[in-house]
Amino acid sequence: MTTEEAKNLLYKRESVYARYPEAVGEIFQYANGYRKFIDSAKTEREATAFAVKYAAERGFVPYEKGKKYKAGDKIYYVNRQKSIYLTVIGEESLDRGCSIIVAHTDSPRLDLKQIPMYEDSGISYFKTHYYGGIKKYQWAAIPLALHGVICTKDGRKIDVSVGEDENDPVFYISDLMPHISKDQMEKKLSEGITGEGLNIINGVMALNEDNSAKLYILTLLNEKYGITERDLITAELTAVPALKSREVGFDRSMIAAYGHDDRVCAYPALTAICALSGVKRTAIAMFADKEEIGSEGVTGLRSASFAHFLTSLCEMQNADMKTCCANSICFSADVGGAYDPCFADAYEKNNSSYLDRGVVVTKYTGSRGKGGASDASAELVARVAKLLDDNGVVWQTGEYGKVDQGGTGTVATEIAMLNIDVIDVGVPLLSMHAPFELASKSDIYMMYKACLALYNEK
Ligand code: MN
Ligand code: MN
Repeated sequence: MTTEEAKNLLYKRESVYARYPEAVGEIFQYANGYRKFIDSAKTEREATAFAVKYAAERGFVPYEKGKKYKAGDKIYYVNRQKSIYLTVIGEESLDRGCSIIVAHTDSPRLDLKQIPMYEDSGISYFKTHYYGGIKKYQWAAIPLALHGVICTKDGRKIDVSVGEDENDPVFYISDLMPHISKDQMEKKLSEGITGEGLNIINGVMALNEDNSAKLYILTLLNEKYGITERDLITAELTAVPALKSREVGFDRSMIAAYGHDDRVCAYPALTAICALSGVKRTAIAMFADKEEIGSEGVTGLRSASFAHFLTSLCEMQNADMKTCCANSICFSADVGGAYDPCFADAYEKNNSSYLDRGVVVTKYTGSRGKGGASDASAELVARVAKLLDDNGVVWQTGEYGKVDQGGTGTVATEIAMLNIDVIDVGVPLLSMHAPFELASKSDIYMMYKACLALYNEK
């Protein structure tokens, strides 16, 4: 057998950078745009606001129920400031289905409890309740920023963002010094820092007669926002890493950032739908909320909100929503856990995804025997593989880790409940859910190409 014949018989992953050396400039330029997004949108609210602005500047207008839209019209619908559905109306009737790309814009973080403030040993703290799957020890001894909204007793709604500007103060969770960590070091990694131990330091100055650091912080909050401790009960505040994205490597080939999962798929979906001038099949890009805690809640994909939106679109065309769903296709655009050779034991090499090997197409997620997986059909995997090949998108397949090592779920299951064909397609990451995650610029760019390919599918 010749080497060529053998090559044709074997399956091998491809490097994006090796296949498209001439595209490095384009790949890096796209990454610069992505960094602006990831650095300014650290919560689902901020990501939704970014999408509204970005899309409005490119001709999208707010959806009005009952209004007739024609092919090529660009609309968006915002669900409670935390989720957005961007739509380009297709030339074909919605009975022929639509192309949907859904990514979530919530990321693991530390939410403040409703009565967060307390003082201990002269230090003023926030109590937190972590959101999503985190390794708690990773959140100590790093700079934290505070984001969110405060809805006050007197009816105001105050946007909060402290810690992102270079001149802002940041917040901090302490860890025990190694010198006296004998007991801590003998604990399991999951217990070294506990959930109730994730207390955020917010001040130490007791500039008042009561000699209270907490009271002084409340004085400052009252001066800055006009709020009292009671107003914090009706607030939604969260601590996220106060870290800007950075290029990684001498070759600058990668980006480290907080919240790649899943804004690294949301940005390609947003930029792809905004790049469309017209489409055959109606195109939808969705930013979903609450994925990290099971897609529950009115802004998560278990809510009927999206189905109601789709129904309204169908009614506008006298199309049948059920027929529309049956003929639709969806990318559950979510990140994949790339193979990490430093933790080889957790993976099965053949069926892992790798950095710079393109978007990862995941047929099934789940855990303990594919439990909870949507598990796309061979027909759908073949359709998507052909679509990506035909459009020059470098792709790979990959599971999360070796069998029975753990597992995950995505919004694919919620989309499948609507009787819509769905498959996970996303960007492979290292250190997923860490405060600072790692992605290859080449894979992010391929994700953009993959989104365009789906929207333009013949
Ligand atoms: Mn995700
Ligand atoms: Mn996640």
